Amino acid sequence: MPEPEAVAPSANELALEKEVARLNKIILALMDRAERSASAQYSEYGQFQTTVLLEDQIRLRTAELTAALAEIEKANRALSFSEARFRGVVSQSIVGIAIVEDGKFSYTNAKFNQIFGYTADEIRQIAPADTVSVEDRAAVAESIRHRLTGELNEADYGFRGLRKDGAIIDLEMHGSVLEVDGKRLLISVLLDVTDRVRAARELEALQEALREQSIHDSLTGLYNRYHLEDFLDRELTAAGRAGGSVSVVMMDVDHFKAVNDHYGHLAGDEVLRAFGDVMKQHVRGSDMCCRFGGEEFLLVLPGSSQDVAAQRAEGLRRALAATRVVYNGEPISVTASFGVATFPRDGATLDQLVAAADGALYTAKATGRDRVCIGKTTRSGDDLEPGRGHQTKAATP
Ligand code: GH3
Ligand code: MG
Ligand code: MG
Repeated sequence: MPEPEAVAPSANELALEKEVARLNKIILALMDRAERSASAQYSEYGQFQTTVLLEDQIRLRTAELTAALAEIEKANRALSFSEARFRGVVSQSIVGIAIVEDGKFSYTNAKFNQIFGYTADEIRQIAPADTVSVEDRAAVAESIRHRLTGELNEADYGFRGLRKDGAIIDLEMHGSVLEVDGKRLLISVLLDVTDRVRAARELEALQEALREQSIHDSLTGLYNRYHLEDFLDRELTAAGRAGGSVSVVMMDVDHFKAVNDHYGHLAGDEVLRAFGDVMKQHVRGSDMCCRFGGEEFLLVLPGSSQDVAAQRAEGLRRALAATRVVYNGEPISVTASFGVATFPRDGATLDQLVAAADGALYTAKATGRDRVCIGKTTRSGDDLEPGRGHQTKAATP
């Protein structure tokens, strides 16, 4: 706690002190005269009596004034002690406190100066707007104007501050007004929330990353089955309302076990990754592609008819068959089989559609692989010109 500061006597106190001194002088003068009169043989008794009376009065008045002076001194001491206490609290506050008077900082506490990186002298030279980032200057000026004109007496808001070193900081502010002698002083209480805001942003980014992670497959980077359910449910509901169609294409790598067996599991992973890349290159706009599990993939084509979906699947089939994955210097090529199902004709729910696409995929496998088959009423891959001879040569070494 800082020592109470010595308080200069007020004009009132000075006047009182002068009055006491003046009265003391009069008393002395009167006493002197009374003594002289009493000792003189021809003194007049009346005059002497008056003098004694006056003397009593003056003594009384002097005692009163001395007591009043003591009272004032006591009050002043109490005031300076309370001001010291107040200064102690304000100067050591963990919040920045400033008073703006006539467009300048007339008072700032140590924390306020520290928040903005100025010394107490420097901060008195700058305009309050210099402590606000350029983007937020207009908004802060507006709030100050409201408080100056009396439209508002209090304002709570956050803004980005500008430090002397040019760094941008996040601040929370409580502004109020103090009226002194008809003048409106703006009081600002500031909390530096930069670290808190940064931590909140980092947490938000982390949550977003985790959310992304939770709906993606780590090997291929495609969406996972968890997201498929969410996505397809939404698309089916929308198509049901609008009377539209949604097609799904189920894919399964042919003889993939043989790839693993011949080239190793890591090579198999590389093939699955390459499969994922081909899929990503082929998805458009509102499509969604996911790894359904193992070496199975599923493509959702909102708004696509069965024919369009079959053409898209055929394009993918060709692209996959043409892909060469080089692993340890060895080129690996694989093919895949495709099953297409379309809402609403092949199923109304996610499970029904997936089952229908699975059924068509089974037909594609059973009829020679490396082909596209459609819905419940399956069609031979030849109809879609799957390119005969695209057998799984590399996969069946
Ligand atoms: P088909 O043409 O009938 O589909 O034959 P297939 O060998 O592809 O089918 P099968 O179901 O017999 O084998 C699938 C293999 O896929 C077995 C499994 O070890 C492998 N597999 C599943 N997930 C992964 C994976 O993440 N990485 C690797 N390398 N292999 C996987
Ligand atoms: Mg499989
Ligand atoms: Mg397979």
